[in-house]
Amino acid sequence: MTALLEACDVSFAYVPGTPVLDGWTARFEPGTMTALTGPSGRGKSTLLYLLGLMLHPTGGQVRLDGVPASTLGDGPRARLRADRFGFVFQDAALDATRTVLDNITETALYRGEKRQDAVARAGALLDRFGVDVPAHRKPGQVSGGQAQRIALCRALLNSPDVLLADEPTGNLDPATTDIVVDALRDHARTGATVIVVTHSPEVAAACDTEIRL
Ligand code: ADP
Repeated sequence: MTALLEACDVSFAYVPGTPVLDGWTARFEPGTMTALTGPSGRGKSTLLYLLGLMLHPTGGQVRLDGVPASTLGDGPRARLRADRFGFVFQDAALDATRTVLDNITETALYRGEKRQDAVARAGALLDRFGVDVPAHRKPGQVSGGQAQRIALCRALLNSPDVLLADEPTGNLDPATTDIVVDALRDHARTGATVIVVTHSPEVAAACDTEIRL
């Protein structure tokens, strides 16, 4: 399945009267990778959270395949996110209380998948990205580069139609940066809609489109 994601006249304010985004419109096509760039504080992360249905617009809509998704109730929205979205958060943001494996498989289990299948796919992804740590290890016991690759495994486990990444290469060395960027590109090539917030000109150059905020 592929996904057409649209922001239609989206506005958002954390504090009433102080909009971070004011009537923002864009269309993200399946099979493309888009960079969201611009100075800090412009609302890039906020926009990614809106597109990922984790924040509610204060005006306008986020649409998926032409259907308003941002106005769904909490339950259907959570389900839609689990079924069709993957998110790589800034600084990996793994759950420190759970093992590497549980972090990666959480959403698949929430969707009702068999643990055995999810674990097998998690293992294959960890191999693919060269993460050589015991899967029962906790995130506090892995390096920053490993944590970010684990976060990528978590986001890719369900082959999401929409993959959103917030500064996924922020603190990574060049080799790990290449692994992450190649993985995002490869995922777009499968037909997914990929959107990346980045300050890196190299990452922006690897995208099909750049939108500056
Ligand atoms: P960017 O990703 O472009 O750096 P952000 O989306 O993080 O921008 O932030 C946009 C604006 O919203 C900034 O002024 C920031 O201080 C503010 N902001 C971000 N998160 C919150 C929050 N949870 N509560 C209040 N203001 C916030």
